[in-house]
Amino acid sequence: MKAPRWWRKWLHSRWGRMLQRAVGQPPAIPQPLWQQVLGRYPFLHALPGADLATLKTLCERFLADKEFTGVHGLNINDEMALCVAAQACLPWIHWGLAGLDWYADFVGIVIYPEEAVAQREVTDAAGVVHRYRETLAGEAMHGGPVMLVWSHVQGASAGAAHGHNLVIHEFAHKADMRHKSRYEEANGCPRLPHGFMGLSAAHATERWQTTWSAAFERFRRQVDLAHRFGTPAPWMDAYGATAPAEFFAVACEAYWVNRNGFETHFPELCVLLDAFFRRPR
Ligand SMILES: [Zn+2]
Repeated sequence: MKAPRWWRKWLHSRWGRMLQRAVGQPPAIPQPLWQQVLGRYPFLHALPGADLATLKTLCERFLADKEFTGVHGLNINDEMALCVAAQACLPWIHWGLAGLDWYADFVGIVIYPEEAVAQREVTDAAGVVHRYRETLAGEAMHGGPVMLVWSHVQGASAGAAHGHNLVIHEFAHKADMRHKSRYEEANGCPRLPHGFMGLSAAHATERWQTTWSAAFERFRRQVDLAHRFGTPAPWMDAYGATAPAEFFAVACEAYWVNRNGFETHFPELCVLLDAFFRRPR
């Protein structure tokens, strides 16, 4: 029997979440709702049964811990929250519940109905302040909430063939920022797990940075040549050429929604992401 809406609402309230943490058991996701969300996203539906069971457990915890806010009149229902949760939790299916520690430094997820325009201000080296407007589909803030645009979350299956996924992109930024101080920028090198690839911490970081830097430079050149001379564009979102942190986020999207495509074009990065996400061999 489906729990009444007021009860589910209370479970997601601040007090409800505190009680669940004390008791240790988040509410179960009703099976019809789970199937409905899996049906929306073929890259989730195709997962083996054991991985889907882990994903559901992660989603239940994630939904109990996070707070969703719709803006511009957008009302966030259970299905919408689960669509976000399922994609945000996908990268950690081989980590189990420990994977959610990557998202432990924030609770808020803010959802806009359509792309949002943000006012930006940067000061250049000469001290000149530049103000501009930027259209956003998503944004991850250090220690703060994740912002997502619902039309992109909803339509994620359409971009999977090209390796696109907004939710995984923004949550990859959160993982990149997770163990950095407020003064450090996301740089495409998240804190690597202890014993990563059987290497010492220093060697693991060196291997990660050397491999990713070389791939980033190659990707940037390809994007630049395609832009200037019309040569074939590289597989994967060209936005990844804007910064190493974006390259990492774009790579995580592609890895999780189209691993075959990613492995074909970036075999050396695929090995590192297999190790980082603890994919069994
Ligand atoms: Zn980004």
